[in-house]
Amino acid sequence: MGREPAASDVPRLLEALRFAAGKHRDQRRKDAETSPYINHPIEVAEELARLGEVDDVETLQAAILHDTIEDTDTTPEEIESAFGAAVRRLVEEVSDDKSLPKQRRKELQIEHAPRLSERAKLIKIADKICNARDLIHAPPAGWSPERRMEYFHWCRRVVDGCRDVNERLAREFDAVVSEGETVLRAEHPALAAGGDPTVERCR
Ligand code: NDP
Ligand code: ZN
Repeated sequence: MGREPAASDVPRLLEALRFAAGKHRDQRRKDAETSPYINHPIEVAEELARLGEVDDVETLQAAILHDTIEDTDTTPEEIESAFGAAVRRLVEEVSDDKSLPKQRRKELQIEHAPRLSERAKLIKIADKICNARDLIHAPPAGWSPERRMEYFHWCRRVVDGCRDVNERLAREFDAVVSEGETVLRAEHPALAAGGDPTVERCR
């Protein structure tokens, strides 16, 4: 880790970007400005490359593709034929099973995190950093402070299971979530008084 990407890696990264941009072309993030969805996987890959100093091209490709199976019509086979079996496996590792109810999917992320491969753990932490940052700077429209706080708590439980792979990413995650919690508590003193809300409260 820490080397410059080889010239031969660049076309492979660009191909993943083109593929993901096409798949997410009609999707928007949940923030008030409905940002283009593709910004998010780009940020996840950038976080890995910059802060995480990850230069393994398959990990970066999988980061760019990480929400294609979960959120678009992309099949695992399609990813394998374009990017190979290793990238397919990584994207599958970080994808929820959309046939399950949402609450179960969230519990499974916590359960599965410690068993992910090292490369999938890196993507998982970077994804949670970016989503937690979005919750501070561009939160989903209409989310109550309680819901935002619950999201931070849930992210922390997922990241606790996979934080061992990269100290810088783990520290950044802690910093972002603690900033988010501080901002929320300052803006909504009732949250500070009420302690940690639990996922169970709004099932
Ligand atoms: P969702 O899973 O519906 O939404 C969060 C996901 O949306 C993120 O993980 C991210 O996933 C994606 N996303 C898109 N745009 C944004 C953005 N601007 N900022 C952040 N994430 C974005 O959320 P949950 O249903 O999990 O709700 C969060 C918590 O709130 C849960 O713990 C849930 O139990 C609780 N809850 C509370 C309610 C209440 O009324 N208090 C009601 C419902 C839930 P990706 O990386 O895949 O794009
Ligand atoms: Zn994501």
